[in-house]
Amino acid sequence: MYYQSTRGQAPVLSFEEVLLTGLAQDGGLYLPVEWPGFSAPAWRSLGGADYRVLAQRMLAPFVGAPIAAQLSEALEVAYAGFAHKSVAPLVQLQPNLWLLELFHGPTLAFKDVAMQLLGQLFERVLTACGERLTVVGATSGDTGSAAIEALKGSGAVEVFILHPKGRPSEVQRRQMTTVQANNVHNIAIEGTFDDCQDLVKALFNDHAFRDRFHLSAVNSINWARILAQSVYYAYAALALGAPERKIDFVVPTGNFGNIFAGYVTQHMGLPMGKLVVAANSNDILPRFLESGHMSLGAVQPTLSPSMDIQISSNFERLLFEALDRDGARVAALLQGFREKGAFTLEEEAMAYILERFAGARLNDSGTLAEIERTYGETGYLLDPHTAIGVAAARKRLAAGAGATVVLSTAHPAKFPAAVEKACGQRPALPARLSGLFEREERYSILPSDPAGLKGFIGDRVSGSLAA
Ligand SMILES: *Cc1c(COP(=O)(O)O)cnc(C)c1O
Repeated sequence: MYYQSTRGQAPVLSFEEVLLTGLAQDGGLYLPVEWPGFSAPAWRSLGGADYRVLAQRMLAPFVGAPIAAQLSEALEVAYAGFAHKSVAPLVQLQPNLWLLELFHGPTLAFKDVAMQLLGQLFERVLTACGERLTVVGATSGDTGSAAIEALKGSGAVEVFILHPKGRPSEVQRRQMTTVQANNVHNIAIEGTFDDCQDLVKALFNDHAFRDRFHLSAVNSINWARILAQSVYYAYAALALGAPERKIDFVVPTGNFGNIFAGYVTQHMGLPMGKLVVAANSNDILPRFLESGHMSLGAVQPTLSPSMDIQISSNFERLLFEALDRDGARVAALLQGFREKGAFTLEEEAMAYILERFAGARLNDSGTLAEIERTYGETGYLLDPHTAIGVAAARKRLAAGAGATVVLSTAHPAKFPAAVEKACGQRPALPARLSGLFEREERYSILPSDPAGLKGFIGDRVSGSLAA
């Protein structure tokens, strides 16, 4: 299987190369050149399969032969630490409404499902080729801890995670800074999340530095993360009657990575209902779905911080698909977006998107009301991101929608303040995280300055890697 860039100007790469590269040289994102698919009987035969078995079957056609041979083992190790044996259990809230709990991994958010597998694949690919990498990433909270948990202790990777000093919640910070592994380096940057992202970009744009230290990113544009996430859509749909029954999925959305994974599953031939983008007050995507017009606003902080995003990087992948995989048109559209902060999509492409996607939005007071309502009716505690999805699903069901699955993207204990404010209950940390507040923290504080950061990384990597 080969992969092409959404902007059409970068060389095609193998899965292994795409795994380690992230962004394409022309600034685009990678997608498979063709979509492998399964017939209805093949899907049917996978109903009731163990999560890892389903994953093995779905992922094998997308990866190269060397990885395919190790996939089973990588999946076993990746999901061994999950607190629920089925990896992604379904919980029913009311008739026709289910939650897909994706937060049973080590850091309590759905990002673990993909990142734990990514860590295993990195280790195997790097060991096979005898290479070492330096992973550098910026985080506002969830991505950093998921990456650290996935890569800690690796002999082939040094990990540097930048967070804006004082911004992540205490739970989020401690999930990163209490990990005691020699290859993990936490850096609190004196600045904002945008400053952290700019620093990472500056490192990657310094090509001499990038090549000398073999820089790599594990952010949400990484194709392997999307691919790993496509598995749980099929897992839930098959459990609820697919391929005969079409299930709607509601997805709390930020960077559009998670929901695009649903599109991938659909493209592998699994009949599916609508994919619903659930957004908070940062509602650029629902507005686009209503109007065909994408226009950038300022990021507003909300109770669902992992969705406080205006530019959803992975949306570029859907544009590429909707524009008949014409990289030149995607590049032109995005160029205009960068210059004017807005673009309008032509009718035919819009129709392609609306056939598959719908949008919904909810502000903070609606989010609190949904947490309270669900707790009152069922005793179940929703995290604020998931609550936005549940409210959207209820509205759709009232208007006649069929069987609906809401992706539950975080455990309520990850956002205890919002949950307590909504319903007076403070969610307890699961047992596997007990002790988080007693463990010793370790991190460095650096100014928002690329030269200082390069020196910091150089000091810690040079002995082991640089020539
Ligand atoms: C990352 C995250 C999201 C957004 O997912 P995308 O793939 O960026 O759309 C939603 N909820 C939680 C809890 C997250 O951590």
